[in-house]
Amino acid sequence: MHETHTLHHTARFSVTGLSQRYPEPGSVPDKNVIWVIISGTDVAITPGDPPWLFSATDPARDGCSVLSVQYLGHRGETLCYAAELNIGSPLPGTMECCGVRALFHRLTDEELAIAAYAVRIIDFTRTTRYCGRCGARTRQIRTERAAFCTDCNLITYPRTSPAIIVLVRDGAKILLARSPHFPPGMHSLVAGFVEPGETLEEAVHREVKEEVGITIKNLRYVASEPWPFPNSLMCGFVADHDSGEITIDNDEITSAGWFDRDHLPVLPSQMSLSRALIDAWTAGEIRSDR
Ligand SMILES: [Zn+2]
Repeated sequence: MHETHTLHHTARFSVTGLSQRYPEPGSVPDKNVIWVIISGTDVAITPGDPPWLFSATDPARDGCSVLSVQYLGHRGETLCYAAELNIGSPLPGTMECCGVRALFHRLTDEELAIAAYAVRIIDFTRTTRYCGRCGARTRQIRTERAAFCTDCNLITYPRTSPAIIVLVRDGAKILLARSPHFPPGMHSLVAGFVEPGETLEEAVHREVKEEVGITIKNLRYVASEPWPFPNSLMCGFVADHDSGEITIDNDEITSAGWFDRDHLPVLPSQMSLSRALIDAWTAGEIRSDR
């Protein structure tokens, strides 16, 4: 575990299983290649226990209608590519389409992160086919992950949207809040996107004030997590309640309260940084002295 991680939590969507080496190969080699096949926002898997993510055969040779091929990185000495299928294309062999979230705990964390990364990169190429400034057709360049407009020279990089999430303590209790789009009963930590011109710390103070009407103190960074649905970087903090009573706006938040370890509500998936922070607090790993 990296020393900046104070959580016993692997960053699940950190793509540790691939290394990007640029310039990427000019064409797909004949050997030592594995494929991740993407259809829409789903990934194709070969069913099994566990399911199998990678395909060893070029899907174009497997009867698929391939729209685009993108280099994802090297997995050891094996090159990993994503193949985006055209809508309605058959899948190779017995493969089936599956949403990435549904593969949590079915694939290894390393494979899950690669699957999410493949969806993310295909989404990047899909949404940057045309220049955002002049509207001309772009091309993906091979020396870094970017789309280049040959008409106006604009380079577009994959967008990452920073977001904050904060575990607010009050004595032996933590603040949990419920958003209207959560599954029934589920509560989570206060979270939100960072606004332009704002620091992470300012975003935490603002979101807590906006969503539950209180002020916080002793704000401290804990851990981060790439969250690929579709492109956030979650930055996790811990803080203590300073002043004010919980008041909610009933718009972004429909209920909020202080919960002790023995009376926690339905919590988010273990896939999330929110849950990792809550679990670390429950386990006594997040103490007041740090
Ligand atoms: Zn342009």
